[in-house]
Amino acid sequence: MSELYDIAILGAGPAGISAAIYAVRGRLKALWLDNQFVEGGQVLNTYEVDNYPGLPGISGMDLGEAMGNHAEKLGIAPVRGKVLAVENAGSEKIIRTKNHEYRAKTVVLACGASHRTLDIPGEAELSGMGVSYCATCDGAFFKNKRAVVIGGGNIAVEDAIFLARICEKVYVVHRRDEFRADRILQDSLRSCENVEIIWDSVAVEIQGTEQVTGVKLSNVKTGQETVIHTDGVFIAVGIIPNTQWLGELVPMDEAGYIIAGEEGITGTPGIFAAGDVRTKMLRQVVTAVADGANAVVSAQKYLIENA
Ligand code: NAP
Repeated sequence: MSELYDIAILGAGPAGISAAIYAVRGRLKALWLDNQFVEGGQVLNTYEVDNYPGLPGISGMDLGEAMGNHAEKLGIAPVRGKVLAVENAGSEKIIRTKNHEYRAKTVVLACGASHRTLDIPGEAELSGMGVSYCATCDGAFFKNKRAVVIGGGNIAVEDAIFLARICEKVYVVHRRDEFRADRILQDSLRSCENVEIIWDSVAVEIQGTEQVTGVKLSNVKTGQETVIHTDGVFIAVGIIPNTQWLGELVPMDEAGYIIAGEEGITGTPGIFAAGDVRTKMLRQVVTAVADGANAVVSAQKYLIENA
């Protein structure tokens, strides 16, 4: 029979890294699993993180790398593997990847979130051919070209500011007449001379055959349709939690977030949630790392109470 871990941490974004650091410092026998090759999760796709205390203006890549290195320095690194299922067998949890089966007394679910899609004609067909969900990854392909960013949150506005430095012209298309992004980001966006904001509009079709050539917009107030000619479309319309694969393991809300408070305690004994996967008000790096710490402390308490 395979060895029994005290704790299995699933995910290596900021919440998972923080959980790994707390687990190793708490001398827990820990297993850490992630399906990516580099630690950091979603923050790796962020050009600049300017609200993480002590590290103003750090790039997402540098922050993710520094966090991963911190954990590795303490002697813990993620095992690469896509977790397919977690089974609650009472006092033991079984974690299944394609080739392995692991056993742990507790599990911290820190599996993060992925970008939401618009599900409009042309989006899937032209993905990678002008349609992108990551401006920092793909922005350089649009040097001196035109780009459209869709969305009104922090990511859309950050993406537009980033692209404005590279592209000839950037349009931001938002379905309302007010952004939900932080005010400081909105101010930076408005200072970009080559950015035009198109309010009250949704994208209804992405046009092109081998490459994106345009986006058809519909004004939600007037119903009027227009086409913007563009080389790239960056979609930043929010995130969805990576919880579909969990089945009935833990109670979730209607959007698929695991119901758990600050302590990370879920409705299933021995299973804890941390970071973007759990129900919470603010999904940022600073709250994710706090979650990782709290979830491990809750797991430690559970281990003592159930020894
Ligand atoms: P978000 O804050 O949820 O914003 C999503 C945006 O997309 C909203 O403006 C929303 O419009 C719009 N939208 C949603 N569905 C749409 C649809 N079907 N068609 C058109 N527009 C649609 O998501 P996000 O900007 O991707 O950010 C994800 C999370 O990461 C957030 O929790 C954010 O706070 C966090 N984040 C934090 C930082 C930071 O700390 N600096 C940076 C980046 C991201 P409405 O406004 O009308 O709802």
